[in-house]
Amino acid sequence: MAVGWTRDDAVLDQIDATVDAGVQRAKSLLPSGVSLTHCETCRVAIPEARRQAIPGVRFCLGCQAKLEQGK
Ligand SMILES: [Zn+2]
Repeated sequence: MAVGWTRDDAVLDQIDATVDAGVQRAKSLLPSGVSLTHCETCRVAIPEARRQAIPGVRFCLGCQAKLEQGK
């Protein structure tokens, strides 16, 4: 158990470091807070259903897909 725990802990430390370094990028990709009525990138209206399905959504479906694929 100890070996497995130590390995997992090291992985978690790496994840924490990655998260800290990528906070700004994560915020641009992961929705949080208030949903926008219009896409932050292309300004197209975001459907109400999408805004309610994804709290804090900031992008239309097309832009979200591009962001997630264009890492
Ligand atoms: Zn868009």
